[in-house]
Amino acid sequence: MGQPMFILAEDTSRTHGRDAQSSNIRAGKAVANAVRTTLGPRGMDKMLVSDSGDVVITNDGATILEKMDIEHPAAQMIVEVATTQEEEVGDGTTTASVLAGQLLAQAEDLFEDDVHPTTIVEGYHEASRIALETIESLVLDDELDDELLRKVAESSMTGKGTGDIEADALAKTVVAAIRHVQGDERVERDDVVVRTQTGAATSATELVEGVIFDEEPAHDNMPRKVEDASIAVLDLDLDLRESNIDAEYNVTDIDQLTAAFEAEEGELRGYADALKEAGVDVAFVTGDIEDRVASMLANHGILAFESISKDDARAIARATGAKTVGSVKDLEAADFGHAESVKVRKFGDSELTFIEGGAAAKAVTVFARGGTEHVADELERALNDALDVVTAALDKGGVVPGAGATEIAIADAVRAQAAGIEGRKQLAVEAFADALDVIPRTLAENTGMDPIDALVDLRATHENEGVAGVISQGQTGVIGNPIEAGVLDPAAVKREAIESATEAATMIVRIDDVIASN
Ligand code: ADP
Ligand code: MG
Repeated sequence: MGQPMFILAEDTSRTHGRDAQSSNIRAGKAVANAVRTTLGPRGMDKMLVSDSGDVVITNDGATILEKMDIEHPAAQMIVEVATTQEEEVGDGTTTASVLAGQLLAQAEDLFEDDVHPTTIVEGYHEASRIALETIESLVLDDELDDELLRKVAESSMTGKGTGDIEADALAKTVVAAIRHVQGDERVERDDVVVRTQTGAATSATELVEGVIFDEEPAHDNMPRKVEDASIAVLDLDLDLRESNIDAEYNVTDIDQLTAAFEAEEGELRGYADALKEAGVDVAFVTGDIEDRVASMLANHGILAFESISKDDARAIARATGAKTVGSVKDLEAADFGHAESVKVRKFGDSELTFIEGGAAAKAVTVFARGGTEHVADELERALNDALDVVTAALDKGGVVPGAGATEIAIADAVRAQAAGIEGRKQLAVEAFADALDVIPRTLAENTGMDPIDALVDLRATHENEGVAGVISQGQTGVIGNPIEAGVLDPAAVKREAIESATEAATMIVRIDDVIASN
């Protein structure tokens, strides 16, 4: 008889076999359940309160899961599904995590029926392949014109706190923004920035063909609006070279004092005059602008900004085509940038500077307005989703019917092909199809419909008409054709949801041993 051998540290906890599986599955399902009620246009919002009391009100799956501070390792894998979905396509985060949770729930049933984890994994992968093929066959042939793209944008925004009328106008703004940065090859999504400002209704949201900065003029008397502006970006201080202000003057008579002041004034005036002579209309300065210089610049009618961050300076240079200059002596017209207008606008207590029609700029800003911080923040998330879905539709393979229709069609195709699959793997493939039903079922539930009746209706309508979804209209839902109702999602969102949900679920299913060092 040998001595027992300990290979793990004393405080290591270990669960394995069924216990490990069911604990992981329960955790994964719990996370998915947490976001279920937010799915779709009639989904509810969540209020998340942080340790420090910060409040976020949102309907966005990725945001909810990210703020929930989840610790369980398997649960975290579902959070990752949402995060990956957000990074890859920017929308469909709730769909992906709910689907992952349902794949786990189905796996639990399969375990009960003694289907081996490996068989489940194989079956899920097989089903996911069928699902991806089906998605391609569902992509609409329609041209991706503005009208269609607006529907895609609107489908992603409905239920995000924006009213119908607003969603319509916002969708127009979103599509206009994307068209602006659409190149021959691809959409330069990074060139669209969403910037929020409270104090006005959502309907005041506008598209700014340029960039917006959080900067105020260096002097009150400076012009607040300059058209057709020559712009200098200066990486320097417009200040006295030596800080002889702090130095002690040993003056014996008044003439000496005057002379010292005049020398200073002369140096400062030198800066202001140099800018004027070079023909600068607007100057962005990374360093300080001495008060007297600011005043002289104002007298010259020059609009100047001080303490511009390096990042902002770079962005302004990029947008206007300016070269950053390190010394006033070197200032020449060839280094200037250009913009159609530079405007300072006041919003409540803060002022923002708009640089529009920059010579080198492709960048546009969606200037989003909301009555309060919470509204503006949720609007920002909704707009970013909408910008992402339009980009995905254009660059990543078109659009498919929304409102659960794609999931119904995929489930149908997977079930049909399951019949030809041998052995217990068939059960896993069928279970995958059943898991997909969770999306239309949840949409129906969140609209207040009876989920079972709705599913029966959906399948029948799909059978007869080839496409069927849970269309949300005002307060109620009806089974109808999402293409006609204009409910469309990018194919890429569905593709990514299937892939990431399958990956996470199969990964969790394969685990039968959890060793945690505490
Ligand atoms: P996700 O985080 O998955 O994007 P959403 O709450 O944005 O979750 O809901 C997306 C789902 O809502 C998609 O399946 C989409 O097709 C559906 N949807 C959008 N607009 C409508 C509508 N008017 N009627 C029914 N379903 C809709
Ligand atoms: Mg969405």
